[in-house]
Amino acid sequence: MSQQPIVCKFGGTSVASGDQIRKVAEIIDADPRRRFIVPSAPGKRSPEDTKITDLLYLAHDLARKGQAIEAVWDQIAARFLGLVAELGLDLDLQPVLDEAAAEIKGGASAAYAASRGEAINGHIVAGILDATYIDSAEVIRFGKGRRLDPLTYELIADRCSESGRYVIPGFYGADRHGTVVTFSRGGSDVTGSIVANAVDAESYENWTDVSGVLMTDPRIVPEAATIQEITYKELRELAYMGASVLHEEAVFPAREQGIPINIR
Ligand code: ADP
Ligand code: ASP
Ligand code: MG
Repeated sequence: MSQQPIVCKFGGTSVASGDQIRKVAEIIDADPRRRFIVPSAPGKRSPEDTKITDLLYLAHDLARKGQAIEAVWDQIAARFLGLVAELGLDLDLQPVLDEAAAEIKGGASAAYAASRGEAINGHIVAGILDATYIDSAEVIRFGKGRRLDPLTYELIADRCSESGRYVIPGFYGADRHGTVVTFSRGGSDVTGSIVANAVDAESYENWTDVSGVLMTDPRIVPEAATIQEITYKELRELAYMGASVLHEEAVFPAREQGIPINIR
């Protein structure tokens, strides 16, 4: 039997800069089982910084009001192009950036706008990892009432049947007409859990800016101790009560297959 893969989700701060993305590559290179990578959109590089997702929602809002998006769009494009330059990648992002800007100006939905953070960043992460890029709109399928369509699991398994690495951007998918739908904020955690279920992963590694689930939010209690082991039920409860380290919906897909969630 072939080795079971590990699914790795990287949060916003973990992909916020070229140096951070290089660390992602080191982590992936360190274990050949790490074959499925779910990146978020670039997050904050410093407390004063703005998340790409927030800039994209802002651009959508301006477009909706008939205002110019150029000033905001220039910031978004500059961050992505800056990452490509920092990493020395041979990747022409201009066509995907232009397409996204045109769609947003042309009245695309807030979900479409927001999803571009993960979609475009996925190209960068796939570039540095030499991985196959999969557009999540083609494999993460939403049904009625924005519920996950179980067909999603088959679609992912079918597209990822070869050996090698795959990058599947977090946070979004599409309905059966191909219209982009997102999870709620922080939803890349859910994508990672879904991919882990679909590929029957050995574990779901959720790489973030804290070393594990802590007794409480370290922004409130800096010396909060790490919880070494926690049941799915308790983790879900903590997330539901506001422990933003994991999206509250991210527990279910992994739990369904008994896949351990490892917060790194
Ligand atoms: P990412 O961008 O990687 O998804 P998030 O900001 O969504 O990261 O989640 C990580 C943050 O969750 C931590 O920086 C921490 O401030 C916060 N947090 C809240 N409650 C907890 C908790 N119980 N344990 C760990 N982190 C927590
Ligand atoms: N980028 C999205 C957000 O900021 C999703 C995520 O980071 O998980 O909410
Ligand atoms: Mg998060």
